[in-house]
Amino acid sequence: MKFVDEYRDQAAAARCAQAIARITTRPWSIMEVCGGQTHSIVKYGIDELLPKAITLLHGPGCPVCVTPLELIDKALQIAARPEVVFCSFGDMLRVPGSGGDLFSVKAQGGDVRIVYSPLDAVKLARENPQRQVVFFAVGFETTAPANAMAVFQAHTQKIPNFSVLVSHVLVPPAIEAILGAPDNRTQAFLAAGHVCTVMGYQEYLPLAKKFRVPIVVTGFEPLDILQGILMCVEQLEQGRAEVENQYARSVQSQGNRPAQDLMAKVFRVVARKWRGVGEIPNSGYSLRDEFAAHDAEARFGVAGYSVDEDSECISGQVLRGVKKPQECPAFGKRCTPERPLGATMVSSEGACAAYYQYRRHEQRSLAAEKPSQDRSQDRSQDRR
Ligand code: SF4
Repeated sequence: MKFVDEYRDQAAAARCAQAIARITTRPWSIMEVCGGQTHSIVKYGIDELLPKAITLLHGPGCPVCVTPLELIDKALQIAARPEVVFCSFGDMLRVPGSGGDLFSVKAQGGDVRIVYSPLDAVKLARENPQRQVVFFAVGFETTAPANAMAVFQAHTQKIPNFSVLVSHVLVPPAIEAILGAPDNRTQAFLAAGHVCTVMGYQEYLPLAKKFRVPIVVTGFEPLDILQGILMCVEQLEQGRAEVENQYARSVQSQGNRPAQDLMAKVFRVVARKWRGVGEIPNSGYSLRDEFAAHDAEARFGVAGYSVDEDSECISGQVLRGVKKPQECPAFGKRCTPERPLGATMVSSEGACAAYYQYRRHEQRSLAAEKPSQDRSQDRSQDRR
């Protein structure tokens, strides 16, 4: 397929991996921010092409994974109300809250619907003025423009029965939180190409300078990722810490100005909780006062609700690159995509789900090679 096959060319990938190996003189840890990049890395075995000195860490860039437990609970409470039509992208329906998921609300009679655009939910509200239509507005800067447009349309077209449950998060504050943490291992970042298509990459310049880290805006195909890694390693080996753009076929320095203007009109920047990570200052969006009438949290009285995360799930450490999914004792045992304990096992972009889909057999074969004493320890972990 044109514009896809070129970026999956095996011979070119091998040449790029050889170039990385040629210039690597010491260990480096590089984090890809986006869950789509994580999925590509694990699916295509990109990490296995690299020299052993290069460690890839998987960052917090899956929007489903970082949506906090209490937001899922709020969605469940709102969706269960008889007057509500609750609209969401499909990947949010299986995310576990403290007492079920949106599929279970639907099974119990809730009117939960999958839509493919927030504007579909606005249309539904316009056509059903007797119902309350709520859209679950989650995601990074990538999905925020369409959600801002939905709120703006509902406001200007005077559609009072449309509201949004907002849980938007922003990438640069998360990068800053990771780099500022005492257990940080990340020495360079692959920034998410689609986020930068909207926002540009000016916001990353002060981060690269403050923390002395290379940041390379990178795409999602195997060759994009390998080239992004090569650009990071070149900078690390040369002692440079700059922002570079591997994904120039989509990203411009200033991003998409009309989209940014619309987002600034509808949203304001606030502190947001990230699932498994905690609250990060200035890391998300909320509706501006002018659009507060479309705020589902206020409309349905769930704004004050909060809940603690599951203590067994270590997805917070996975999302900060401190641990790999297989290091979680529940991985592939008590936690699987069919019965997920944490959000990183739900979404196909989640690191735990990607490792389960493409790497769980490796874990089994490693376990099979262990001496019998180790295997008995594994079984005792299973029973805990
Ligand atoms: S394997 Fe499951 S329990 Fe462990 S970190 Fe991943 S989502 Fe959480």
